[in-house]
Amino acid sequence: MSLVARLRGDGGRCVVLGHRGARGILPENTLAGLDHLDAIGVVAAEIDLAVTADGVPVVVHDPVLDPDKTRGADGVWLCAGLRVIDLTAAEVARLDVGGLRPGSGASRSFPNQRAVLGARVPTLRTLCAWAAARPGFVLTLEVKSDPTAPDLTPPPADMVAQVLTEVRAAGIAARVILQSFDWRVLVAARGAGVVLSGLSHVAKTVWPGSPWLAGHDGGPDDLPAGLAGMGAQVWCPFWQDLTPARLARARRLGLLVHVWTVNDAGNIAAMAAMGVDGIITDYPGRAVDVLAEMGLETAPRVSGGS
Ligand code: MG
Repeated sequence: MSLVARLRGDGGRCVVLGHRGARGILPENTLAGLDHLDAIGVVAAEIDLAVTADGVPVVVHDPVLDPDKTRGADGVWLCAGLRVIDLTAAEVARLDVGGLRPGSGASRSFPNQRAVLGARVPTLRTLCAWAAARPGFVLTLEVKSDPTAPDLTPPPADMVAQVLTEVRAAGIAARVILQSFDWRVLVAARGAGVVLSGLSHVAKTVWPGSPWLAGHDGGPDDLPAGLAGMGAQVWCPFWQDLTPARLARARRLGLLVHVWTVNDAGNIAAMAAMGVDGIITDYPGRAVDVLAEMGLETAPRVSGGS
């Protein structure tokens, strides 16, 4: 069964994807967060990737490391953002990303996030090995390319090649979704054998001539058509941008719709009731409870293969 078929909602299913692992309760983009998903039976995650100076894809959200989420090897919070592209993989491996700086906006946003002192930034290779050991687990890998900041990452085609090398070596390409706000990533990965997903945020990436959309020039209602034309099979809009009409349009084009990032129980229920195929959330356990109460399956269909 194809990955898209496994993930399709068809009215009875809404797949829960743990955002950055399980950011609401454990440090983002860490193995601790992924292990938590495993423990509660959530078998899909949305994870972010940047690339080091020596060309190693690493699991981190911010190409400029956030000083409120990152400590040096000495345990002292960074005083300024370091660029991942300026650090070697060995230097990144010494950072501690197991907590949030007390008093910071991040700690106020996620007051229930437990610290995991000494948690490291996983490499994509480590992440892929983790997933390879868990048959059926679905990884949505977000390539953090930014067309407005081209000095922060390698060019899209290079990032795609670096990421796919690791995914293929681990033998998990059949259960990976590659996604980005920078739709040039999708163009570069077209035909590479992984499902492609286009992120969008109407207020931040969608306007006439936007560099985020790789030449697509329609308005918010035309995002699904733009993605279908690029060979994508998933549309991943900011949840407040989704309307029933846009969802229906995506459906007619054969796209799955995964919304980000929905944390409030009422909003999770509203998105599921609208009929999305998947919900990306910082609180995956909460989402499972809400959706189960609605009578929905929350995991992908079981695959016959890997
Ligand atoms: Mg992401």
